[in-house]
Formats: sequence, C-alpha cells, structure tokens
Amino acid sequence: MSSGIVSAAYIAASILFILSLGGLSNQESARRGNLFGIAGMALAIGATLIGGTPVSYGLVIALMAVGGAAGGFVAARVEMTDMPQLVAMLHSFVGLAAVLVGFASYLEPAGHFVGVEKTIHDVEIFIGILIGAITLTGSVAAFGKLQGILTSRPVLIPGRHLLNLIIAAACAWLGYCFVGADSINGGIWPLLAMTTLALIFGVHMVLAIGGADMPVVISMLNSYSGWAAAATGFMLANDLLIVTGALVGSSGAILSYIMCRAMNRRFISVILGGFGTPKASSGAGAIEAGGETVAVSANETADLLTSAKTVVIVPGYGMAVAHAQHLVSELVDALKTRGVSARFAIHPVAGRMPGHMNVLLAEAKVPYDSVLEMDEINEDFPTTDVVLVIGANDIVNPAAQEVPDSPIAGMPVLEVWKAATTIVLKRSMATGYAGVDNPLFYRENTRMLFGDAKQSISEVLSAL
Ligand code: NDP
Repeated sequence: MSSGIVSAAYIAASILFILSLGGLSNQESARRGNLFGIAGMALAIGATLIGGTPVSYGLVIALMAVGGAAGGFVAARVEMTDMPQLVAMLHSFVGLAAVLVGFASYLEPAGHFVGVEKTIHDVEIFIGILIGAITLTGSVAAFGKLQGILTSRPVLIPGRHLLNLIIAAACAWLGYCFVGADSINGGIWPLLAMTTLALIFGVHMVLAIGGADMPVVISMLNSYSGWAAAATGFMLANDLLIVTGALVGSSGAILSYIMCRAMNRRFISVILGGFGTPKASSGAGAIEAGGETVAVSANETADLLTSAKTVVIVPGYGMAVAHAQHLVSELVDALKTRGVSARFAIHPVAGRMPGHMNVLLAEAKVPYDSVLEMDEINEDFPTTDVVLVIGANDIVNPAAQEVPDSPIAGMPVLEVWKAATTIVLKRSMATGYAGVDNPLFYRENTRMLFGDAKQSISEVLSAL
C-alpha cells in the first residue's frame, strides 16, 4: 500500500477519534461516539499493518487474537462497580508498552541515529520511558486502592515532598547523562536508573493521594497514558499514534481539571497528596456527626413518597453495588403515574468513576431529561418534598460546607438536607469512600431506611 493511502487512512482515523471524543461528551451520543472510536481504531490498526513491515504477519495476528480475546473476556465479565479498576489496569498496559517500546527503540540497531537526530531520538526515548514508567506503577497502585488491596487513605512517608524533589532532580541529571552520552556517562545505565526511580515515583505519588481524590487520579493517569502513547508515537515516527496520544492526553487533562473544579480542589494539591488523612477525619466532622437517627420502614417511605408533589432521587455508589437501578427506574415510573414529579440529581463524582450513575440510569432506560447535574438541581432542594438518597454518602455530606477542618471541606455537595424530608437508604452507619462521618444522618428531617438498596426499593414498590 502506498504511503499516501496510509496517510489518508491515518487522517480518517484521527477524524473518527475526534468525532468519538465529541460523541462521548453527551449521554445521548455516547453510543455513536463509541462506534466512531471502534471504526477509527480498526482503520488505524489495518493501515499500520498494511503500511508497516512487521517481521511476521502471522505473529502479529496471533498476538492480536490473544490480546483481543483476553480484553473481550474481561470486558464482558466486569461488573459496573469494578470498571474504574479495569480502566486503571488498562492505563498500566499503556505505560508498560511505552517503557518496552522505549527500550526496544534504544536497543534496535537500525534505530541508531547520529548528530542532532540522535539527540532528539534519545530525548524521545527518555521522556517516553519516564512517563510510561510513572503511568505503569501509578496505575497499578490506583488499581490496588480501588480494589481495596491497598488502603484508600493517603500513605504519607516523612519528607515525601523532599523525596519527590530528589527523584525529579536525579531524573533530570540522568537525562543529561543519557542524552549527552559520552564515553563515561552514556549507555543504558542512566535509562535503567531513571526507569527504577520513575517506577518508585509512580507508586509513591498515587499512594499519597486519598480515596476522595481517586476520580482525579484516574483521569490524570488517563492523561499520562495518552502522553506516554504520544511519546511512543515520536519514538516510532508514527503520526497517528502522536495524534491519538495527544487527544487522550489533553482530554484526560481537561477532565482532571473539570473534576478538580467539581470537588473544589486545586490540581497541584491533589497531586501533592495527603487529602483525607486519619488525623483530619477524626476532627470536627466526627464530633458533629454524633446524635440519634430516625429509622423508617418501607411502608412509611411509600407513604412519604406518595404524599409528596416533588421527589428527587440521589443515586450513589451503593445503588451500583446493590444493582438497584432497574427497580429505581420502576419506582420513578410508579411515582409518575401517581402524579408525583420525580427527577434524579447526579453529583459529578457519584460512584467510582466519572459518569458512573449516568451509565447505570441509561442502562435502566431512565429518560435523560429527568437526570439533572448538581449545578442544575441544587437550588431546587429547598422546594423539594422528599429526597431519596440511594446508597450515596460523601456526595450529600453537609460537613463539606459546615465543618471547615473536615477532610472534604469545600467539596461541592448535593444540598439534600434542605428538602422537607430526606430518606437515606443504606445498610448501616458506615462511612463512604472518603471515610468521613456524615452529619446528614442525624438531622431532624432525615429518615434512615436501613437495608440493601435493591431489597428496600423492592419493598417500597410492593408497599406502593
Ligand atoms: P460513598 O462511597 O460515599 O457511599 C456509598 C454508600 O453506599 C456507603 O455509605 C454504603 O453504606 C452504601 N452502600 C454500599 N452498598 C450498599 C447496598 N448494597 N445497599 C445500600 N447501600 C449501600 O459513595 P458516593 O457515591 O456518595 O460518593 C462517591 C465517593 O467515591 C466520593 O468520595 C468520590 O470522591 C469517590 N470516588 C469517586 C470516583 C468517581 O470517579 N466517581 C472514583 C473513585 C472514588 P453502607 O455500607 O452502610 O451500606
């Protein structure tokens, strides 16, 4: 295939990727966005295979079949609640690929350049491996935190900022040794030393970040994986990989920025870690949270709902765990047939990944126009009769606004306590992901419906 046709296929694939990203920004067009992405990737792989000169087409196709089958198997079996872990794991593969391609580019004799070209190529290799190694271990640590293998609390080793500075300075020096390779300093050892430091830095950086900041970490690692892919594209002189990597890198960075804004956090303070330490969470938030709770039954909940004119449902991680979305959708239909206005309020970080609740509600065929974002609905709570909080905790915690030294102070939350009555469905008095007590449960107008969310909703439906 002529290089002109390959370039045309690459341009078409780039356009499909851009259309894909555009589609994914909206629930209604997300499915179409995914199809554009699949088409773009198929075109990209096809053009690369035909335009390139692989050692063996048989080997490439066999490896793609193994990888594709493994990916398909895992994707078909993964629970929605485990999606962030899967995403973190996939980011780690991109990081690993960047590291391996970097070393292969260095060791490949055909790739030995001279003069300025060599310097540029060495810089590409160094940066590609650096970002790849940080992405690799950072993503594995994020996987461990999300999977509950590692603690969700920040792990803060003494003098960690100094340690980070030393690692950064050491990497800069090793870069100088590698790129300005003379007979004394050059060779593979600066690359190996930098890789080791970058692998350590990746773990250290993510371990220091607390559970409540994990959404930002996931999108940040998504961004890193994009830049790692772009760096790989430079190493391999593959334009499409550069464009695709830059698209992923920049969209991940924009998403991180949007999420930081949603959580009222500065990106740099997220990266520096330490948010949600045990010391902080035993502060005023815990004292404030003491008191009596008022439990209600499913029958009482049904009565409160049917005598309401306006109901707002706030889904959280617990709804995903209980797989309650279909019954919640039925509940909304039942309320609507009784003339009750029922809408959903979605917090930007509800659940365990961006858009988690939207995906579940779309799966349960909830109409998009009854699903509102936090900014659209927060001012409606004072005029709402009943709020049903289904398996949500951190995102409805008034301590974020009222307790200045709470670990989640300043995080925007859904102001459900302003409604006439708030009913919270959860199994126990356990805290949410950030590990912070919630004073909402002790408010005068709050009622607790204890039990598994699916079971509770099913009982409320029977009572209706
Ligand atoms: P939370 O984790 O704060 O609270 C979930 C609540 O659901 C728990 O209090 C739990 O209480 C309850 N629950 C669990 N299982 C069930 C069940 N089967 N039935 C009923 N209730 C159940 O979730 P939120 O959605 O409120 O907040 C999300 C949190 O996760 C935030 O801190 C956010 O920063 C973080 N996060 C978000 C990510 C994202 O991208 N969206 C990614 C990673 C973290 P109990 O055990 O008593 O039932």
